[in-house]
Amino acid sequence: MTDMKKRETLTAGALMAAGATLLPGAGVAASAPRTPFTVAATTIPVAGSDEVFPVRRIYCIGRNYAAHAIEMGSDPSREPPFFFQKPTDAIQYVAPGQVSDHPYPSLTKNYHYEVELVAALSTGGRDIPVERALDCVYGYALGLDMTRRDLQRGMGDQKKPWEIGKSFDHAAPIGPIHRVAQTGHYKHGDIWLKVNGETRQQATLDHMIWSVAEQIARLSQAFELFPGDIIYSGTPENVGPVVRGDVILAHVDGLPELSIKIV
Ligand code: MN
Repeated sequence: MTDMKKRETLTAGALMAAGATLLPGAGVAASAPRTPFTVAATTIPVAGSDEVFPVRRIYCIGRNYAAHAIEMGSDPSREPPFFFQKPTDAIQYVAPGQVSDHPYPSLTKNYHYEVELVAALSTGGRDIPVERALDCVYGYALGLDMTRRDLQRGMGDQKKPWEIGKSFDHAAPIGPIHRVAQTGHYKHGDIWLKVNGETRQQATLDHMIWSVAEQIARLSQAFELFPGDIIYSGTPENVGPVVRGDVILAHVDGLPELSIKIV
């Protein structure tokens, strides 16, 4: 194709796109570029609504409860919060009242649960002040930051990224999002996790070292935040392993319990 022809093609494409958006009643689909296949969008149901929450990015905060920081070998008094990401399609939605099958992942022999409060954002920005940070929160959910602990530790020991320990298929089970407008913010309640009916993790949300507001403020210094971003806010102490057949039950006061069976 000559340069002239390329320019004509581009111009025609741009005009078509512009025209499509100007057509009365034309939806987004009318101007969307054609693709050779479809990639599923990741969404999470919104409780008490027929809407779903579209997920843009999954951020996770590490070592945000003092006793968990100590069990992971760090000093909770001095370390600023640190973050990692999971791929958006690692979400496994778990409906309340159901026990969803959760596949034991490949490569690991030490597969751990981490129960966490998740904040879901409807606005974002850069350098968001702590005082305004909670205005970004659309709602909250209960989530599990599932972890291939042996791979995470192994990579850490080699000073390599822990991606493979945290960012894999189905690594982010989550319940429905509850809107702040209806529930208020979650700051104090109990957070716990049982395996086969036995309590393994138990704490309260006010044991977080960095509050959700502080997490958003800090995170927005590193990344521009956008609507659709969700933040796993860290797990209390006593993380531990599960094997096939185990049933996990997770709880945060004011949210429906979440349950998965490892298969
Ligand atoms: Mn975690």
